[in-house]
Amino acid sequence: MSQKHFCWYQNYGLILLLACAAGCGRAANGAAKYHEHIGGAADGETSSLRHQFAGEYPIPAVATTGMVADLVALVGGKHVAVTQLMGAGVDPHLYKASTGDMARLNRAAAIFYSGLHLEGKMGDTLARLARKKPTVAVAESISQGRLLAVAADRFDPHVWFDVALWSEALAVVEKTLAEFDPVHADDYRAAAANYRLELAQLDEYCRNELATIPTERRVLVTAHDAFHYFGRAYDLEVKAIQGVSTQSEAGLKEINELVAFIARRGIKAVFVESSVSERNVLALVEGCRARGHQVIVGGELFSDAMGKPGTPEGTYVGMVRHNVDLIVKALK
Ligand SMILES: [Zn+2]
Repeated sequence: MSQKHFCWYQNYGLILLLACAAGCGRAANGAAKYHEHIGGAADGETSSLRHQFAGEYPIPAVATTGMVADLVALVGGKHVAVTQLMGAGVDPHLYKASTGDMARLNRAAAIFYSGLHLEGKMGDTLARLARKKPTVAVAESISQGRLLAVAADRFDPHVWFDVALWSEALAVVEKTLAEFDPVHADDYRAAAANYRLELAQLDEYCRNELATIPTERRVLVTAHDAFHYFGRAYDLEVKAIQGVSTQSEAGLKEINELVAFIARRGIKAVFVESSVSERNVLALVEGCRARGHQVIVGGELFSDAMGKPGTPEGTYVGMVRHNVDLIVKALK
């Protein structure tokens, strides 16, 4: 009896260990994770005070993608200085931390990343850092019931294209900063409340604009599967050449099937993405032409990376508006 229990316990421990090594946090709750990390300090100290910010302002924070950096910068305001690791056009699925990034991550007082395996090659690094400082996967704070499963224990990481869902991720940034820097907690709460309102307006904008596309044309064909949350939220059918990660290459078979689909449905535009090679999308256009169906590239969508800093698309709100305007113009 006790033997059986012992084995079960051992296996369970191993599974937990593996889950942590993958940097995933199956609990899918950034806030809970943060507390766990506080409790799990290497020297056994469990006081959360140990993890309150005590340095010079602004708080040095690091974020992985532009979308996460935007969230942290808007909530943190003047109290937080955010360094973004992945710039315009960078694919987070394939991104590996450079030596310079490692130095930035080690210097940071707090780290924010998207999570759900988006930063697939940084999992081990982030898991290691999480033992030393607040390290929060913002998308993993979203309730699991609202996430799209892609495998038994894997979720689609592209949550930011459902604006209401991304707004849920705001709470964990607000909570983390308020606990880490309680002196400015009121400022963080006020900034988060403002941004929440802006996101609610953006969500409404998406809904209203996309509703103008006729039913039979509500099909979004893109380079990789980044738009399932977008499709679910705003009622568009979504097709892509590559899967939810760009790590797997698309084959000729996938391209041919999609060409047949586009021709059959009479789709008039497909889209390239700023952080993914346009090669496969151009092969679709060519394949359709060979079948006698004219399809155009409707433009470049921002999927896993925002636009350049200083441009409207260099903000989360701007990139979403850009995508929506482009999709409506090409498909309507
Ligand atoms: Zn992606």
